Amino acid sequence: MTGDRDIIIENIDELRSRVAAAAARAGRDPAGIKIVAVTKTVEPERIMAAYQCGITDFGENRVQELVQKADIMNVECKWHMIGHLQTNKVKYIIDRVCMIHSLDSIELANEINRRAEKAGRIMDALVQVNVAGESTKYGVEPASAPDFVKEVSRMGNIRIRGLMTIAPLVSDPEEVRWVFRGLRQLLIDIGKENIDNVSMEYLSMGMSNDFEVAIEEGANIIRPGTVIFGKRKS
Ligand SMILES: *Cc1c(COP(=O)(O)O)cnc(C)c1O
Repeated sequence: MTGDRDIIIENIDELRSRVAAAAARAGRDPAGIKIVAVTKTVEPERIMAAYQCGITDFGENRVQELVQKADIMNVECKWHMIGHLQTNKVKYIIDRVCMIHSLDSIELANEINRRAEKAGRIMDALVQVNVAGESTKYGVEPASAPDFVKEVSRMGNIRIRGLMTIAPLVSDPEEVRWVFRGLRQLLIDIGKENIDNVSMEYLSMGMSNDFEVAIEEGANIIRPGTVIFGKRKS
């Protein structure tokens, strides 16, 4: 396990310098880019190694794993739900996450709003947009995103803070630059509408394969997993 720890520490160092270099290329301050370390299939001890390097935000795409880890990791960190969320599971995470990146239906928004009200909180959420139009991916279509945001904005216990997308997996990340650029443009366009109870400030985009291009295109939340913890077993 100590060897593992050293690798994670090294990986995070390397990740931070790549983030800084990408930010510099775009004339941006790297301090404005939040790293949400994706911990799916990663054991708590290895997550702790990342935490000890100053990583405080973690992302999970399965409810059960998120709940288990959030309960085990008895430290001050923040959990992000980044995967497709079934309405009947919202109740398990409502008290455990700081943000839901995968808001993709009105039905889900209604349930989050209802549960958040019960829990006496306002849940931050990002609208997942299927920019690339892949039939295998969840997310609202870009053309319907503005109306979707408006509808959710009327719900008092959910607050939209921005947009999220997952780019197609390609060997050369340059091929998906247009996806990130498209999400950023959508953020700007919706932001111009000044919708009450909505702040278009976060762009959650970029994973291990493509985070540098995402940063160049304006990402301020990136979601790397493999580059920190190594290849997943499953
Ligand atoms: C798994 C996952 C990631 C991290 O992917 P890596 O390629 O390991 O960096 C990021 N975002 C979402 C939504 C994921 O499901």
